[in-house]
Amino acid sequence: MEKVSLLGLSPTEITEVVGLKPAFRGKQVFNWISKGASSFLEMTNLDKKSIALLEEKALIFTSFVSDTLKDKDGTIKLQITLNDKRAIETVLLTDDKQRKTACVSCQAGCAMGCAFCQTGTLGLGRNLSAGEIVEEFLFLEKEAGTLDNIVFMGMGEPLQNLNAIQKAIEILSHPEGRNLGTRRITLSTCGLIDGIYRLADSSLNVRLAVSLTTANQALRERLMPVAKGNPIPKLKEAIRYYAQKKGKRITLEVALLSGINTDKESALNLIDFAKGLDVYINVIPWNKVGGLDFSTPLENESKNFIKILDSANIPCGLRLKRGSGIAASCGQLGKSFA
Ligand code: SF4
Repeated sequence: MEKVSLLGLSPTEITEVVGLKPAFRGKQVFNWISKGASSFLEMTNLDKKSIALLEEKALIFTSFVSDTLKDKDGTIKLQITLNDKRAIETVLLTDDKQRKTACVSCQAGCAMGCAFCQTGTLGLGRNLSAGEIVEEFLFLEKEAGTLDNIVFMGMGEPLQNLNAIQKAIEILSHPEGRNLGTRRITLSTCGLIDGIYRLADSSLNVRLAVSLTTANQALRERLMPVAKGNPIPKLKEAIRYYAQKKGKRITLEVALLSGINTDKESALNLIDFAKGLDVYINVIPWNKVGGLDFSTPLENESKNFIKILDSANIPCGLRLKRGSGIAASCGQLGKSFA
């Protein structure tokens, strides 16, 4: 009989799948797993019969960390091998206030094909399961201690794997386990309009980030093929709907590509897009990805861009460069599998 992984299951599901008695044993197991236990023998409040049942029917981790890379700025990247030998990467970012954020992947590869992104060159391998997403988070906590936030900004497009993400969030925010508040969870999309509406109408109360890159439709289509079926005016409406429905400010991410979307007109287009929306614009100077024909903007290029947004009173900021020494920055994940 194939053993079932418990990582994507709630306490009640664990009780049922394993056939534990009494039912509260499921809660105990769930609590141990959330604390990072990797074997049933570590679960010292369980009786021998429960441990024997668990060992016969279940397993905890299904993936393993195949490499750990550490940048001098504190960023950590884990390369994880899944049970079917596919590889993914997950990143720990530490900000200047020492808050730790897990940047997790939701797919092996990605089908969206953004021209400036390493992961996009891989194509889609497959969706990750809820348990595999929870594993990423727990591997990072084993490495770096308690994490403060989780962002779905790693490999893959979250709105194409929303059911698994929803389940992973249910597990990570469960009061018997990690109890992570949903305000600490951000989901980042390349702008799938239907998915934004679906998320807005769901019970998930997470923060939303949209990778906009440019508010010029023709240029966006060139840089992000997804823009063809998801035009900018309709995307703006979906963002407005999400902000109103959830009462949350939306982050717009703009990867700055030297000489492509860094001019005054690009900044003015963004200002126009932001009009009437409650948004924060996160400007991210592009990180070099070998083989892709773009350049990182010069410091002045990025600063001038921000100045124009600032002068229009648009809430915005320049993201600090983190993790580029280990190819763990935005757009660089998957470099070692290419
Ligand atoms: Fe996929 Fe995000 Fe990369 Fe676009 S930027 S190809 S959506 S991982």
